[in-house]
Amino acid sequence: MVETLSIAVIGAPGVGKTSIIRQFIYNDFSEVYTPTRTRYVYRPSVILNGNMYELKILDVPPISSFPSSSSQEWLDLRCRGVRNANAYILMYDICCVESFEYVKMIRQQIVEHREGSSSEVPILVVGNKRDLQRQRFMPRRAVSVLVKKTWKCGYVECSAKFNWHVVLLFKELLGIAVTRGMRQNHTAIRLQGALQRNRCTIM
Ligand code: GDP
Ligand code: MG
Repeated sequence: MVETLSIAVIGAPGVGKTSIIRQFIYNDFSEVYTPTRTRYVYRPSVILNGNMYELKILDVPPISSFPSSSSQEWLDLRCRGVRNANAYILMYDICCVESFEYVKMIRQQIVEHREGSSSEVPILVVGNKRDLQRQRFMPRRAVSVLVKKTWKCGYVECSAKFNWHVVLLFKELLGIAVTRGMRQNHTAIRLQGALQRNRCTIM
C-alpha cells in the first residue's frame, strides 16, 4: 500500500507558496501574482529512497490564525485538513519581516492547538525569494539559529523563481516525516501485540 502524507503550506500572502508548489510539480514559474483565494490540493507522487509516497499538498489561502479546534476547521473551508496535516511548510519572504512574524505566530499556534504528541509534527520553515537576498531583513545564520535551536524546526532557503533548493526542501521535510512516522508505527505494532494478548472474541 502506498503511504499518503499530507503537507500544509502556510504563509503570508505573496511569499511564494503557490510558486514553490508549482515549480516542484510542474517546473513552472510565473512573475504575475495571482492571489490564491480558495484552498487548493495538489496530489503528486514521489519516490524517496526507493519508496513511493502519495503527497497531498494543501496550498492554504490567507488565514488569520491556525484553527484552534476541529469545529473551527470545519466551519472555515480555507482551513480544511490543516489541523491533521502530517507536516507543515511555514513559508516567509526573506525580504519581508512581517511575513516572518506571521510564520512565528502560526508555529506557536500549531504547538498550542495540536493536542498531545501530535504537537511534535514536523515543521519546516522556508525562506523564499533567495534571489533577492541583498534586500533581506536578517542574516541567514541568525534566522537559521533561531528556527533550529529555539523553535526546533528545520530551516531551508530557496528561490521558486530560479528553482533553487525547491526539491531539496520537499526532500528534507519528507525525510523527517517518514522517520517520525516509522517511529509511531513501531509503537502501533507494539500496542497491537499488547492488545492481542487480552483479546476478547465475540462468538
Ligand atoms: P503566495 O501568495 O504565497 O501563493 O505567492 P505566489 O506564489 O503567488 O507569489 C507571489 C509573487 O511573488 C508572484 O509575483 C511571484 O512571481 C513572486 N515570487 C514567488 N517566488 C519568488 C522567488 O523566489 N523570487 C522572486 N523574485 N519572486 C518570487
Ligand atoms: Mg498562492
